[in-house]
Amino acid sequence: MLSLKEEILIGIYEEFENWISEDVVCSKGCSVCCSQNVIITAVEGDLIHRKIRERGREAWMAGKLQEKGDTQKVQLTTNAFAASCLQGEDVMPVSYGNEEACPFLEDNCCSIYEVRPFSCRCFISEKLCKPGIPAVIGGTYLSASSAVMQIVEHLGQGEYLGNMFDVLLALCDLPENRKYVSLLPASLADQGRAKVTKALPLPGFLLVEEEMEKVGPLLEAIFSHEVQGRSIEDILNNKQDLS
Ligand code: SF4
Ligand code: SF4
Repeated sequence: MLSLKEEILIGIYEEFENWISEDVVCSKGCSVCCSQNVIITAVEGDLIHRKIRERGREAWMAGKLQEKGDTQKVQLTTNAFAASCLQGEDVMPVSYGNEEACPFLEDNCCSIYEVRPFSCRCFISEKLCKPGIPAVIGGTYLSASSAVMQIVEHLGQGEYLGNMFDVLLALCDLPENRKYVSLLPASLADQGRAKVTKALPLPGFLLVEEEMEKVGPLLEAIFSHEVQGRSIEDILNNKQDLS
């Protein structure tokens, strides 16, 4: 059974996908953009691990986790960046991870597509990318992606945040993931734990009035989306529900 946070996360994914316009050309099987530069929260990792457990594919997953390249600890989460900007500090967003192909790619297709994290869902283009020809991402999409990323981080506040492979490795410690004890070198899980940081609550959005006009309907759709008979906004505003 999905946890409350996982249900909320799926609600956020659904509303973002409903909001994306038909101009976006991304689809399953298009994978030029798929690198190891993917940041996720623990709840996104939990959803991936759940799917792998349901399919009994832990040995396959252990192989993928061992293919990960060099990763870096996130120094400034999206909400930390937003908090600094809102306080008038001069900060720059940083890219973490590396550009090597993502180990989850098989035959140019994402093997965890159904549960891929938000970082992958929000990397969208209005023109097909080709090697050397990058994505064309509209300004509204960038603003929307950052705002939704902030909500996803808020949902996972206090829990792991980091490169997808480090978070997945760190989560191998959970009792439900105990199968990995015999499938992975202990040092790898230790490395994952050492490289993750903690997700932070939402300090406010960084949207100016013009962006809010365009992105506001998406945020409204997310906040009013109902999970277990309550709006996501109501649940996110109640810290106890997120603990
Ligand atoms: S961002 Fe580019 S490579 Fe990635 S799915 Fe979209 S069109 Fe394909
Ligand atoms: S998880 Fe899937 S969508 Fe994301 S980078 Fe890896 S292969 Fe691509």
